[in-house]
Amino acid sequence: MKRDEDGIRQAVKQAYTLYGKAEGGKNADYIPYLAGVPSDLAAVAVVTHEGGIFAQGDVHYRFAIESISKVCSLALALEDVGTQKVQEKIGAEPTGLPFNSVIALELHEGKPLSPLVNAGAIATVSLVKAKNREERWQRILDMQQKLMSMDVALSEDVNDSEQNTNFHNRAIAWLLYAAGSMYCDPMEACDVYTRQCSTLVNTLELATLGATLAARGVNPLTLKHVLSSENISCILAEMMMEGLYVRSGDWAYMVGLPAKSGVGGGLVAVVPGVMGIAAFSPPLDEAGNSVRAQKMVASVAAQLGYNLFSVA
Ligand code: GLU
Repeated sequence: MKRDEDGIRQAVKQAYTLYGKAEGGKNADYIPYLAGVPSDLAAVAVVTHEGGIFAQGDVHYRFAIESISKVCSLALALEDVGTQKVQEKIGAEPTGLPFNSVIALELHEGKPLSPLVNAGAIATVSLVKAKNREERWQRILDMQQKLMSMDVALSEDVNDSEQNTNFHNRAIAWLLYAAGSMYCDPMEACDVYTRQCSTLVNTLELATLGATLAARGVNPLTLKHVLSSENISCILAEMMMEGLYVRSGDWAYMVGLPAKSGVGGGLVAVVPGVMGIAAFSPPLDEAGNSVRAQKMVASVAAQLGYNLFSVA
């Protein structure tokens, strides 16, 4: 196992060289903003638990966090209400269905099963402790900033684009409400969920999120302790089960690291105790995962010998 700095630098460089221009996939277009992001952008980055930074490509380009925000809100809900309540009210099972599936909800009497699909994420937002909509949003943004960087901020352009087209998510919020699985006003939860998806991050910040989870809740760049270490195993378990939508099983089989993707083209994986590995490139496969980001993250992990299921 090559853990030295040269080894990491080499692995990141190699992953970018091999896959930074890989063919295949297409930008998400159901959110108009995402359709317009240049498809040739690509970046890969590692942040270690000690704060070492290794990066290649368009690492400073800021893109919409989208579904990866679900990890941050889950972290906050766990801090607020605890692991038992999250498991009871949201769940910890893969749905086996697309990320915005209404059928998954109907099949399980309105229990969303995972905080990393839209239904579960909207319900998770409603579990966060807040007196009103603005406080709910500020607490979630604050958690994103603590886990990544203070530069993470809402993009009005992304948010407008999503708020004007999020009818499906509004329907999910009302279905949750009808089933008794919504813990604040449903349109407040959907609004705040849509905003949390509309922050801009870069690949280094995404790798920092992974590194903070890897480093028992201490952000290795700010050195602030931002999460209880006892909640992290639950976050990583949820990521392993549902982090790459209906490709989560294939990802576990091939790569063996907890990870989360977003339809903005980002992907972050966690090597517990060691590092966060992130990548970004807009074109997605049919499940909604970035084609190049999957290849780049998998390549870094394989070169460094990290797979949680490996007995080698
Ligand atoms: N804002 C997106 C949605 O709710 C996020 C989806 C994703 O990245 O999976 O549809």
